[in-house]
Amino acid sequence: MGGTKRLNVPETAATGALAISIVVPMFNEAANVASFFGRLLSTLDQLGLDYEVVCVDDGSTDGTRELLLAARAESPRIKIVGLSRNFGKEVALTAGLRYAGGAAVVPIDADLQHPPELIPALVDKWREGFDVVYAVRRNRAADTPLRRLSARMFYRIFDLLSDVSMPRDAGDFRLLDRRVVDVINTMPERSRFMKGIFAWVGFRQVGVQFDPDERFVGKSKWRFGRLFHYAADALTAFSNFPLIAWGYIGAVIAFASLAAGAFFIVRTLILGVDVPGYASLIVAVLFFGGMQLLTLGIIGGYLGRVFEEVKRRPLYVVAETWGFEEAGPG
Ligand code: UDP
Ligand code: MG
Repeated sequence: MGGTKRLNVPETAATGALAISIVVPMFNEAANVASFFGRLLSTLDQLGLDYEVVCVDDGSTDGTRELLLAARAESPRIKIVGLSRNFGKEVALTAGLRYAGGAAVVPIDADLQHPPELIPALVDKWREGFDVVYAVRRNRAADTPLRRLSARMFYRIFDLLSDVSMPRDAGDFRLLDRRVVDVINTMPERSRFMKGIFAWVGFRQVGVQFDPDERFVGKSKWRFGRLFHYAADALTAFSNFPLIAWGYIGAVIAFASLAAGAFFIVRTLILGVDVPGYASLIVAVLFFGGMQLLTLGIIGGYLGRVFEEVKRRPLYVVAETWGFEEAGPG
């Protein structure tokens, strides 16, 4: 693709315009902070663009905040948004995007699973004129087989049910042009499935491959159960199909039972009353009972989501910030 060259991208830091914002959600990452900043800052310094690092402390309790303040004392380009409690990664990222002021914004994990050394490659593509440059995992060797399989299934189902097409194996590690960030910042929904939101926004998108590393220190904060919940949440946020599928299934069953009813009436007229039939009766009762509960559960899931949205609570609460001149966004 021959892109129009982006003219508003500053070539050097000397222009004064803030070129790049790195957004880092952090929850209990004390053990990773030093090596993360080491690799990130040396990469950014070599890039020769003006930058800021917006660290969102998502209610850490392990001294991450103190380490961030110490890092900021060394390098004032590090800015801190301290949330009032743990709100979860997606919400922390949302907060970071709202505080980021750069012409491009790069969300990245603090656990070094996203190599900061890839950022120059993302910036190159941005200069070529792409609005979203996502990093694609070349392999998922760092994941357990169960997690790999469930990820594959998730993408397959998501593609089938939703009209937003999501690039495979692309995470939150990506570069977003300012105009993309501005759109995301206007999206008010509470369920922040960021991968879906990034895809929904559209614009010119391109992938850059990388090999993910093992988590540097500590373990992933995702349990399998939480991941399952996350997937269900993502699907219901981007598809109404689970809600309407039951209409189709109900229609098929209704027609089938009409046919069965006709068959039984005719058979009874010809052969007389036939008492046995307990087995088929109980099977039908249990089956439809189960179907109804399942359907109710799905409707309840969507209703719960509507309830969450109509409460109109803020997505997150900011306790303190360091490094932002004006009062940040709401
Ligand atoms: N994170 C966060 N809030 C949370 C959980 C995680 O801000 O409630 C951050 C975490 O510090 C890291 C990133 O989100 O920088 C990714 O987290 P993790 O490595 O646990 O997730 P995974 O890599 O397994 O997707
Ligand atoms: Mg990780």
